[in-house]
Amino acid sequence: MRRKPRRTAQRRPCRHPQQHETDWLGRTYFGCPVCNRWKLTKPKHAPADGKRLAA
Ligand SMILES: [Zn+2]
Repeated sequence: MRRKPRRTAQRRPCRHPQQHETDWLGRTYFGCPVCNRWKLTKPKHAPADGKRLAA
């Protein structure tokens, strides 16, 4: 009986250099191009610098 210890719940990123990628839809992914693991990151709201779009 083989039991392979799986570490899928690993929160730590791998040792490869992580990098950000933005697709043509403007979505930003953060992950490792070597492992081909990408995680969609939500775009941060623009800082309130006095500009406010009227409703
Ligand atoms: Zn990696």
